[in-house]
Amino acid sequence: MVKIMIDPGHEGVENNLDPGAVANGLKEAALTLRIAKYMYDMLNEYEGVQVRLTRTGNQRLTLSQRAKMANEWGADFFISIHINAGGGTGFESYVYNGNVSAATVAYQNVIHAEIMKAIGNVKDRGKKRADYAVLRLTNMPAILTENLFIDNPNDAAQLKSEQFLLQVAYGHVIGLEKAFGLKKKGGQTTVQKTVKDDVAGHWAEQSIRKAMKAGVIRGHSDGRFGPDEPVTRAQLAVILDRLGLLK
Ligand SMILES: [Zn+2]
Repeated sequence: MVKIMIDPGHEGVENNLDPGAVANGLKEAALTLRIAKYMYDMLNEYEGVQVRLTRTGNQRLTLSQRAKMANEWGADFFISIHINAGGGTGFESYVYNGNVSAATVAYQNVIHAEIMKAIGNVKDRGKKRADYAVLRLTNMPAILTENLFIDNPNDAAQLKSEQFLLQVAYGHVIGLEKAFGLKKKGGQTTVQKTVKDDVAGHWAEQSIRKAMKAGVIRGHSDGRFGPDEPVTRAQLAVILDRLGLLK
């Protein structure tokens, strides 16, 4: 049995205790909880794995309490989910900058790679090390992910898409699947089934999937793609920009 503790970074969206980074109408604490809950649901499709969240709502939790929860439970792995801020774009992951096990580094390598694959056309800021309390205080291998920048308009636009948050969660889960050799319950379920798929069978399905994978066009916040909806002039400008056609 593999015990995985997922830690949605920050807390208190309504009571504003520690919403984390706030920008572009988004709050880090709310986004990390969405991603963590998607991960929780997806991981429950696997056998031989137990999953817990350090918080399931807005409860107040210090960093040492989060680590203590994982330590007392005897978790095999701790993964803390964050959204970056402070100017920049893209994805990065962290392990502790002190002594870490070879396993920790191996887990970071595989999970980082799978997240990058899942989120498409996003800048890879690299695998990093830092003295973060949750990484230092946990007794088991631990990583922390910084999933795009809340204060970057392009990153924020992606973070507003529920489809994108699902892809972020999916990347984490496939990374964990590979890191721990997890197997699906009863064989054939697919993790991505939680996404409402209105693209399957469409005449342009192949191109749409390519566009989504490349991050050029994303789905709606409710998971639909809306293949036959018109594109606005604003959306077209964003698409051209994402294609790198604008100076
Ligand atoms: Zn954070």
